[in-house]
Amino acid sequence: MRLENWKFVHKTVNTANLASEVIARCQKLARYSEDAIGTRRTFLSPPMRDCHAEITKWLKAVGAEVSVDAAGNLRGYYPCAQPEAPRILIGSHLDTVPNAGAYDGILGVVLAVALLEMLEGRKLSFAIEVIGFSEEEGVRFGVPFIGSRALVGTLDAELLSRHDKNGVSVEKAIRDFGLNPAEISRAALRDDCLGYLEFHIEQGPVLENLGRPLAAVDAIVGQNRLEFVFAGRANHAGTTPMHLRHDALAAAAEWIVAAEDLARRTPGLVATVGSIDARPGATNVIAGEVHSTLDLRHASDSAGLQALEDLTRKAEASAAMRGVSVTWRTLLAQRAVPMDRFLTQQIEHAIFQAGCEPHRMSSGAGHDAMILAEKVPAGMIFLRTPGGISHDPAESVHLQDVASALECGMHLLEQLSSSQEFFTRTLRA
Ligand SMILES: [Zn+2]
Repeated sequence: MRLENWKFVHKTVNTANLASEVIARCQKLARYSEDAIGTRRTFLSPPMRDCHAEITKWLKAVGAEVSVDAAGNLRGYYPCAQPEAPRILIGSHLDTVPNAGAYDGILGVVLAVALLEMLEGRKLSFAIEVIGFSEEEGVRFGVPFIGSRALVGTLDAELLSRHDKNGVSVEKAIRDFGLNPAEISRAALRDDCLGYLEFHIEQGPVLENLGRPLAAVDAIVGQNRLEFVFAGRANHAGTTPMHLRHDALAAAAEWIVAAEDLARRTPGLVATVGSIDARPGATNVIAGEVHSTLDLRHASDSAGLQALEDLTRKAEASAAMRGVSVTWRTLLAQRAVPMDRFLTQQIEHAIFQAGCEPHRMSSGAGHDAMILAEKVPAGMIFLRTPGGISHDPAESVHLQDVASALECGMHLLEQLSSSQEFFTRTLRA
């Protein structure tokens, strides 16, 4: 079943009006908060119930069957004409950080609902399941992706037994919300899922700098986080000549500048030393020991590892020339997650069809799409983020960019619905 008439029928929906409705809905959902001032909506907190109720109204109005799975994910199933047809998932997360903006995560869910509205009751060659993940930010339990992990079968007993600061476990939070943790396995993806699509704000300045509204995400970057300890010798700042010093802070400082320099020279690499602790930390004492962190990210694991090797060698060199020793330990090693190549190409084409110049970029932050990518082809579309500002009440989107995202989404659905390749690709699960 093709959507030959879509471009004609589509004219009956005013995209600009729908885009402003999308923005109004995001702002409305931002009022469902645990805090009297500002938006904070963590995993299965009371305002999440109100958020679900509001989105459920919109989903039911377009004929979707709505449910909440045992991991607290809101799911709206928009059927295909054939009952046995496969489905695609479109969504993002509904939880927020404290003092959040109105669009991180939520926009991806609200856009998915709006795409169903744009279909005006027409059915595609696949069913569409809109999904609002219960947890992505990791705020309440210190672990992210609780919602999407349930879909790939990794919401396990260890995760369920984690406690929040009030001593409530993930399992108890699920029960308190009226859900049954024993049914979590039923939330898992079935073998009828063709793929996962996620619209999300970029949360950075790249698209704004380029003057483009939308990007196709080709990978979620890999991350290496380490702690480095430079050990020299503390001594008197006045009486110790320069050539007889073992200055741990000077060694660390040279290495920090080298990390910045390497990242500036290496396309796609970002390197950050965000924390430094010099001991004993006095004006008139040469630093004897320095603890510092390194956060290194790249979309290619091999490029990331090469940079890591370069920087450990640099740390050794800048330490050795001062008679300082250096050790390091890994705090986090997370591999890069490529998005599905076919879906990324289709997204680029859909962006072009929506009248925008496509851009391809990697995501420096983690998203639900990287969890779903473990099981199904996943694709992501970024929207320009004014000022690059996110995780802040000043977070915003341009009305025209939201309209472009809707146009892009409809083109993408049309392309996929009529694509033989999309249907014949085998599931990775
Ligand atoms: Zn997000």
